[in-house]
Amino acid sequence: MADPSHRAATLDLSDPELQQLFDGVKALAVHELDAAQDGPVFDSPPSASGVRDLLGDDRSLPLEGESTEALLERCRAILSGGRRTSARFFGYILSPSAPVGVAADLLASAANQNVTSWRSAPAATEIELSTIRWIGELIGFADDAGGIFLGGGSAANLTALLSALRSRTDPGADRRQLVAYASEEAHFSVSKAASALGVELRLVPTDGRRRLDAAALEKLISADRSVERTPFCVVATAGTTSTGAIDPLSEIAAVAAEADLWFHVDGAYGAPAAAVPALRKFFAGIERADSLCLDAHKWLYAPLDCGILLLRPGSSRTVTPDGAGMDYIRVLEDEPAEEFAFWDHGLELSRRFRALKLWMMLRYYGARRIVAAIAEDVEMAAHMADCVRRAEDLELVTEPSLSICCFRHRPRDREIADPDAHNERLLRALQREGEVYLSNTRIDGAFALRACITNFRTTRRDVERTVEAVCRVGTQLLEGDPPRI
Ligand SMILES: *Cc1c(COP(=O)(O)O)cnc(C)c1O
Repeated sequence: MADPSHRAATLDLSDPELQQLFDGVKALAVHELDAAQDGPVFDSPPSASGVRDLLGDDRSLPLEGESTEALLERCRAILSGGRRTSARFFGYILSPSAPVGVAADLLASAANQNVTSWRSAPAATEIELSTIRWIGELIGFADDAGGIFLGGGSAANLTALLSALRSRTDPGADRRQLVAYASEEAHFSVSKAASALGVELRLVPTDGRRRLDAAALEKLISADRSVERTPFCVVATAGTTSTGAIDPLSEIAAVAAEADLWFHVDGAYGAPAAAVPALRKFFAGIERADSLCLDAHKWLYAPLDCGILLLRPGSSRTVTPDGAGMDYIRVLEDEPAEEFAFWDHGLELSRRFRALKLWMMLRYYGARRIVAAIAEDVEMAAHMADCVRRAEDLELVTEPSLSICCFRHRPRDREIADPDAHNERLLRALQREGEVYLSNTRIDGAFALRACITNFRTTRRDVERTVEAVCRVGTQLLEGDPPRI
């Protein structure tokens, strides 16, 4: 007779098996943290065939399990076949993960609490809400912010626009007549959000510093009203992805208030810098926003993914349409705190415990230490700009803003037929070489190399080596000498 307290199919491991797996995983995790310190960005230049070789040819569905050693070896290969956020990785906007955040993610997965609502995850809900309040206080948004953790800025912008729609428009309104506004420099996720919701997004021109022009915004709102369109939301960017520009939040807040529009600040990249006392003035007006998003995986050094949408208490209605509640989500608890449900503030129902990593990081390091790292990133970008100014062959394209520095290779002593094409080749050669990693942007129509520094490991020396690498590879390309790869 089969033992009734055992089942045939279980996925549990014996204690020694579990120990072996965790020991192996821990060693790999420590290796990754070390590799992110020392670089390079790539172990070898990435290519589709290289990745296939790395993973081996056995692509068939594994019907039987394999040994822990074999599996860990595959994992090692996969991790080494990726891009590392090393101290000279300046592409896009991504920070390396602070070790405390890595440990927190493991705990969140082990506990596997589903943070849908207080009822499902009471303590996790409390932690998420208090972490949201801490962040709101840290950046000067509000001391009593509400909100929700999400996958990132794209999800947060969509959710903010949906909250705006629910809070400021009539449910029966013709969506095609509703208009939201954002600058020409706004992140493309704002366009995607407007498109998903079926509303119009009007792009507002920017001033000479690539910041939304508030006077132009005001005119566009009046023009739309005069043709019976319904403006409902303004999105300001606090730290644009391309150059780090911060829109004039106070002026935009005034226009939004006058026109009775929802005011959302996209601070996915830049908002954490508002916690730096010397930079706070650039974010004046942040305290007037109805909602604000920031990505803790971009500039608070949390592992992916860790987006946050902050909401001003009392400002928004829930995102669940009236009458949409099925009985299985009906909340039976009676204390107000126990009735709280994240599903009313975002589109997801099942959610992992994303707040734990940021909560543990804030407790472990303290906010001061994290803010000091942000301030130092800003200094590194200023140092990069100084190095660029001093380099004969380089041209600074924009003054650095926050931690972004844009420049290009443009030797003074020779004519380059097509500077855009030359810099594009330079960028690709650098990226393949793997020692340093920059990305690109277009400024006033011209191709520029772009460095975004959101890395608590980047030193002045790393910055200098990066500028030297750009000069070296640029010269080699002009002299027809293929750069060493
Ligand atoms: C990165 C970024 C986003 C999108 O955030 P994801 O987390 O990548 O979805 C939105 N807005 C700005 C300004 C960004 O820099």
